[in-house]
Amino acid sequence: MKNKKIQLVMDSSATHMVGDGFRVQTFFPSEKIGMKRMSPFLLLDYNAKVEFAPRDEPRGVGVHPHRGFETVTIAYSGSVAHHDSAGNAGVVNPGEIQWMTAGSGILHKEYHEEKFSKAGGIFQMVQLWVNLPKKDKSNAPGYQTITADDYGIYELPDGGGIVEVIAGELNGVKGPVKTHSPINMYNIKIKKGNELTFELSSNWNSAALVVEGSATINEADVPADSLLIFENEGEQVRIFAKEDSTILVLSGEPIDEPIAAYGPFVMNTHDELEQAYLDYNAGKYGVLE
Ligand code: MN
Repeated sequence: MKNKKIQLVMDSSATHMVGDGFRVQTFFPSEKIGMKRMSPFLLLDYNAKVEFAPRDEPRGVGVHPHRGFETVTIAYSGSVAHHDSAGNAGVVNPGEIQWMTAGSGILHKEYHEEKFSKAGGIFQMVQLWVNLPKKDKSNAPGYQTITADDYGIYELPDGGGIVEVIAGELNGVKGPVKTHSPINMYNIKIKKGNELTFELSSNWNSAALVVEGSATINEADVPADSLLIFENEGEQVRIFAKEDSTILVLSGEPIDEPIAAYGPFVMNTHDELEQAYLDYNAGKYGVLE
């Protein structure tokens, strides 16, 4: 078993606004990390902690389409309300996840939840795009809500912390999310001075986002709000918590299919991408006010 090597560690200083409600660093795709590099993960937007002043009219992103993949919203602080053209609506509260399958096409909007907006406060969130294999791109839209009770919980020895298994498995503990390609996703909540060792396949693409605290991950010191991209080579990952830390680990088997992506659509061919726009303009993704 070899230690997994590290490709790079990125900080989150290059932020931009998505709508007026999300101040994010797009860790990938980027010049260094193209859309295929982290397959099945296509995009990772990270909203590091930011304080929003109280406002009656919730900030957010208005109605927009998606097709051909899944959007995953992970809330760490603050709450997001969403509505979609499949008739789904809900709120993602801190510690919760919304895993939306855009599939054949959907419209949705995402806003700060009303009470959070009125009170203002610290907002911290991840949005991840997960590709769908070709065979599932035309699936009907849907979504999975994951609340704190749903995670598989792996306990570190001696009260050193817990791992919330979101998808896939860790040491036999399984996560609740139904994915369309093999994925392991964990929220590691580890207390200062503790360590955790586990394995990630050398055939899968893997990354770790330090959401809170700071940690040594293999040979790298990773401060809060930084994303570490692992090389594929090697399997073993050792995390040592320099402070009480929360670390989101993503690992997935690459989907070895062509990607044709533009804006909110991710298909396999240029023709399919064109069709996605035609269908959108023809109103085939439903209606959402
Ligand atoms: Mn969206």
